[in-house]
Amino acid sequence: MSEKSPPAVLTVAKLPPFYFDPLCAAFDVHDRLHEADPQAFARIAPTIRGVTGGGESKVPRALIEQLPALEVISIMGVGYDGVDVAAAKERGIPVTHTPGVLDDEVADLALGLMLSVARRIPLADRYVRDGQWAAKGPMPLARKMSGARLGIVGLGRIGGAIAKRAEAFGMKIAYCTRNRRPESAYGYFGDVKQLAANSDFLVVITPGGAGTRHLINAEVLEALGPRGFLFNVARGSVVDEQALIAALQQGRIAGAGLDVFENEPNVPEALRAMDNVVLTPHMASATHETRQAMADLALDNLKAHFAGRPLLSPVPECR
Ligand code: NDP
Repeated sequence: MSEKSPPAVLTVAKLPPFYFDPLCAAFDVHDRLHEADPQAFARIAPTIRGVTGGGESKVPRALIEQLPALEVISIMGVGYDGVDVAAAKERGIPVTHTPGVLDDEVADLALGLMLSVARRIPLADRYVRDGQWAAKGPMPLARKMSGARLGIVGLGRIGGAIAKRAEAFGMKIAYCTRNRRPESAYGYFGDVKQLAANSDFLVVITPGGAGTRHLINAEVLEALGPRGFLFNVARGSVVDEQALIAALQQGRIAGAGLDVFENEPNVPEALRAMDNVVLTPHMASATHETRQAMADLALDNLKAHFAGRPLLSPVPECR
């Protein structure tokens, strides 16, 4: 390969065409070759200089170790819990992600889930379609969201965007993070159980990974109580799914709205069977506009690296 050949980049996810096509125009792309053809992959592995994938992609230490020329890992997503950042850092390989460009979208979906669960919009839609309105009369009454207490677990970029929207609903907002945000006027709880005990709607929007695994457990759900609703738009790993199912089945919480699950795309039948649960397929950032912005930023990070310019959005550990 001549010196002028474009850098070789391995994809570790099926990328949408609006990312894949410009990626191929700029780089020598090997599309998931490590999965499709391990023998061919072994031959080109020493030439791979970049890796790119989506927010749920796995870039484990074992893969990084197979790529001696690797220089950069670009994730199209803000969550990067599938990347072994420690392994990358040991080799001086920066990891980039796409923060900021999806905040509005994820916050919009969080509010949509909150309204869907409290006002039972999906259930009401089925009620009309199935002819139950005509047969049985009005639906049972729902719960009011405006003015209710909202607890946000993780008041970062997206948590802040959720709070901003909830203010318009007159919600009483409190949050839990490891570090208090002195500039925030919202109520602060250093303990997620205490936040849950003081919330009607509890929204989880922390990063995934080992640091937050099962942060929402049976005790937190118990504290949320039989009138409380849980929403997870973060990562499936943050909520103990079995504890959640038990709490819902036993009426120890009132309902849930979930965009993410522990073993995606498999969603437990127990959750799918419940009327007080609204489920979406990990789609909080999934609009044309936002996915395009994420793709552009992921590509621009790769281009910046190979042009010797500063990275646009390295993950905090690599700044
Ligand atoms: P930020 O880094 O801006 O915010 C993360 C927040 O979580 C911070 O306030 C942080 O505060 C807090 N946090 C971290 N660990 C804990 C903990 N153990 N207990 C309580 N709070 C904690 O991230 P974003 O808002 O940009 O994104 C958040 C996450 O949302 C992403 O990492 C991703 O996993 C998920 N996401 C999901 C999407 C979906 O499709 N459903 C789409 C986009 C993002 P502190 O450090 O002080 O604790």
